[in-house]
Amino acid sequence: MKALVYHGAKDVSVDSVPDAKIEKPTDVVVKITTTNICGSDLHMYEGRTNVKKGTVLGHENLGRVEEVGNAVDTVKVGDYVCLPFNIGCGFCANCERGLTGFCLTCAEPGSAGAAYGFAGMGPYSGGQAEYLRVPYADFNCLRLPSDVKEKENDYVMLSDIFPTGWHATRLAGLKPGDSVVIYGAGPVGLMAGLSANIQGASKVIIVDRHPDRLKLAEKIGAVAIDDSTGDAVEKALALTEGLGADCGCEAVGYQCQDRHGHEVSNLTMNNLVKSVKATGGIGVVGVFLPKDPEASNAMAKKGQIAFDFGGFWIKGQHIATGQANVKAYNRKLRDLIAAGKAKPSIIVSHELPLDQAAAAYKNFDDRKNGWTKVILKPAA
Ligand SMILES: [Zn+2]
Ligand SMILES: [Zn+2]
Repeated sequence: MKALVYHGAKDVSVDSVPDAKIEKPTDVVVKITTTNICGSDLHMYEGRTNVKKGTVLGHENLGRVEEVGNAVDTVKVGDYVCLPFNIGCGFCANCERGLTGFCLTCAEPGSAGAAYGFAGMGPYSGGQAEYLRVPYADFNCLRLPSDVKEKENDYVMLSDIFPTGWHATRLAGLKPGDSVVIYGAGPVGLMAGLSANIQGASKVIIVDRHPDRLKLAEKIGAVAIDDSTGDAVEKALALTEGLGADCGCEAVGYQCQDRHGHEVSNLTMNNLVKSVKATGGIGVVGVFLPKDPEASNAMAKKGQIAFDFGGFWIKGQHIATGQANVKAYNRKLRDLIAAGKAKPSIIVSHELPLDQAAAAYKNFDDRKNGWTKVILKPAA
């Protein structure tokens, strides 16, 4: 089969690789019809993770079930399913509590959390490919309704960015009527904004500097702050009577940059402390990694940031972090899409065949204007 393979920093190509197949009786094989390129794929693409050369990337996957293992009960050949990016077993101590982003049995020994085609998240191949092996299929497959063909570009967002954006608002403790400030108008930041609006936020403020993303922020009903034209914190405070927003979300991660394009890995975290009110919550879903060998300074190499802990403490804020437990949200978010109450595909800018994936990576990584979210159609 054809698949997008990582060969080294900024070096990916669509190659022929061995077909995905049933390895355990609890597996299914899915013929991928839509798979996305994610911002977190770019950390790997840029050589800023320990992902192994030869890995097939792709953790935002949707497709048609092609083959079913002997021990699979509920998933049938022909079902259209969306796969959470995190792979859970369903029976470990964390999965039992709904914390499927931190599965203990699917993860690498000594760690928690597994995912398709992802650094440090187990041996699983990704779905930027014609076919994908899905472990523990009864647990992991989210079956999609009969309108899947017309809403496929919406439903595929249930694999990661819509639940992850939603998770950011839950980690932040957003309540109806709250204001929220979101750093980052990439796909996840925009989904956090969409989620906040659905949950009844009184004001959604999104900070970024790319004109195409700022335009999308406004399109989803947020107030867009362009931090290339002035201090983001001052602008956020001006919009919240000088007190700061009720809560905030981080949707950028460890490679955040100042307005001159220099990486300053503590920038968004410290800006959140300043632009969220005293006692407010901060939800962090942007990726921060324990090691970043290619970082430019000694602290960042060790995954550390100079966090404004004094400012955070004196304001009595709280913080919650980590990847989304997609299964905690994906059924209900699917139902919002089916009911026409959420349209996450609004951010899609490019829909391309798999064989254009390498060029798509480059354009998305360059933050080329207009490349806000790329989806691939391997079966086209
Ligand atoms: Zn993703
Ligand atoms: Zn588990």
